[in-house]
Amino acid sequence: MTLIAPSANIAGLKESATIAVSARAKALRAAGFPIIDLGAGEPDFPTPQFVVEEAHRALDAGATRYTQVEGILPLREAIATRANDLRGSTAIEPANVVVTTGTKQSLFNACFALFGDGDEVLVPTPGWPSYYEMIALARATPIAVRGARENDLKVTADDLRRAATSRTRGVVVNSPCNPTGAVYSKSELADIATLAAERGWWIVSDEIYREISYNGPATSMLSVAPSLDTLVVVDGVAKSFAMTGWRIGWSIAPIALTRSMTALQSQTTSNAATLSQHASLAALNGATSRATIDAMVSQFKDRRDRALAMLREADVDVIEPGGAFYLFVHAGRSSHDDPEPGSTFAKRLLEEAHVAVVPGVAFRTPEWVRMSYAAPAEQVVEGVRRMIARRIS
Ligand code: PLP
Repeated sequence: MTLIAPSANIAGLKESATIAVSARAKALRAAGFPIIDLGAGEPDFPTPQFVVEEAHRALDAGATRYTQVEGILPLREAIATRANDLRGSTAIEPANVVVTTGTKQSLFNACFALFGDGDEVLVPTPGWPSYYEMIALARATPIAVRGARENDLKVTADDLRRAATSRTRGVVVNSPCNPTGAVYSKSELADIATLAAERGWWIVSDEIYREISYNGPATSMLSVAPSLDTLVVVDGVAKSFAMTGWRIGWSIAPIALTRSMTALQSQTTSNAATLSQHASLAALNGATSRATIDAMVSQFKDRRDRALAMLREADVDVIEPGGAFYLFVHAGRSSHDDPEPGSTFAKRLLEEAHVAVVPGVAFRTPEWVRMSYAAPAEQVVEGVRRMIARRIS
């Protein structure tokens, strides 16, 4: 058999650390064990009916062909309007928007267009795994900046200042954060934005969980950044509208960068799926959109409160999430010299208690695990009960 060596482009690419857990969870389920899956990063609700109906209508009307690479104009208009509402301006136009195949593609477009060999990009850590990998795919270096436990693992402008070098070109911001659910306050974001502006860094702000927030709306970088000239905001319909499979995201960026990202996309994937663009337009403009999101968020909050109360009662170290749908739980003290207590705990939880969670090593914090509460409330409660019973102590 001929072994095919990967090219230098992907030689360092890491496979998702969650794959082993989900493969094992699948195998156990296939063997007949009732697995409680608290690993998934997607809402367990169906896509709202009015969105599905609009997709049917669009299909009947022939929404089956290519669109402009950057996406249909009405969708880009709707995205620009929402962005202007957040900014309190009229500065953002459809020409600042690229519609992409999921928010992931917006992030990839931005990393690939902005960063390159020799550049360093600061990534608040724990952080979503793809940030590190996408920055590395652009041949830049992701610099993991750890947030302090006292600050719910969020980074401060001072943390970023300390980690910066003359090679720093950008910083990633993700609020509410995956995996902790921590929400940055307006002043915390403003401090980071001011530092970035002083240093001439790009800010890549991933706001995909912004609508899933429990103490009033989470602040957007659009409302605090001193200037839009070095800001890329990415968002999408996956989480707030329970539309993970439709694969629609977008970037809001300066026009020159938007052109570069459109050119990149024109040579890689072209437009995001036409039908999904129409469905997303319905989601953003729907008369009942706000009420639909509020209803989902209220269920997430109820599950969060129940799980949090149980974990606190058992004296488990857990970050209180102000948004998203994850609980980040400390795996406890390991009795031996274990470099990955979170992985040990996650493995034990799956093998012995049939609960799937994601080991913290995936987010570059090996002492923790992430459990999702985007699952029916009774499963969340039962999963947490088993977690508490099997915690490393
Ligand atoms: N950003 C974060 C923080 C996420 O958690 C996810 C999905 O899990 C994404 C981006 C990707 O979103 P999409 O499904 O729109 O590509």
